[in-house]
Amino acid sequence: MTPEDFQRLYQLQTVDTRIAQRREIIAQADDGTDAGAELEADLAELAELAEELRQKQSRHRKLELDLEGVEAEKEEKTDRAYGGTISNPKELASLEQKIDELDRNVHRHEDMILEILEEIEELEGRANAQREKSEAQRAAHASLVATFEHTTVQGREEIVDLEATREELVAELPPQLLRPYEELRKRESGTAVALLRGGSCSECNLAVPRARQPMVKRGTAIVKCENCRRILVVPGE
Ligand SMILES: [Zn+2]
Repeated sequence: MTPEDFQRLYQLQTVDTRIAQRREIIAQADDGTDAGAELEADLAELAELAEELRQKQSRHRKLELDLEGVEAEKEEKTDRAYGGTISNPKELASLEQKIDELDRNVHRHEDMILEILEEIEELEGRANAQREKSEAQRAAHASLVATFEHTTVQGREEIVDLEATREELVAELPPQLLRPYEELRKRESGTAVALLRGGSCSECNLAVPRARQPMVKRGTAIVKCENCRRILVVPGE
């Protein structure tokens, strides 16, 4: 093993750390699934309001038609009662009673129409608010999806480049250095190499005994930190 091997090992550690960081970013990135589900719920609620509104508008049209019918009948009976053709007082009284009934029916219809118009207005307000909420959610979802695609595409491209660099470094490293590195990486959550910096281990900050420091600098055999067990390397030029 040569000092160059240890420098390459440190480069490999740097590359592996950057690959791991990008994988983590991709794994953590919000792909918009939750926002998409929220959008679906908003649209479903909007559809319900629209359907309710459609039913009320149809009921309103029916009430208006019914009112026209009742008014026409009232007009016809009124014309008959006071057109001078009825002389029988009993028949006239019965007709007047019928006209009163029709009149009450006209008022009843007018009240129902007013009520349904108020309901329609209230529903239209709710439907408009829900439409705005859905549109805002649609925009938020689209933005999340776009950011996710950008982040993951960029991250994957960077990983491809980093893996190519990794291949080159691995090909040049002696197996007796690469094997302990890979094993340590698995145990030490990805970081197997530490720098000997200012007489201390850069990962755990513990001082490296003076007697061991020249062995690290020589770079001909693996020297591990006595505390965190990582392979010690001197920083490059
Ligand atoms: Zn250490």
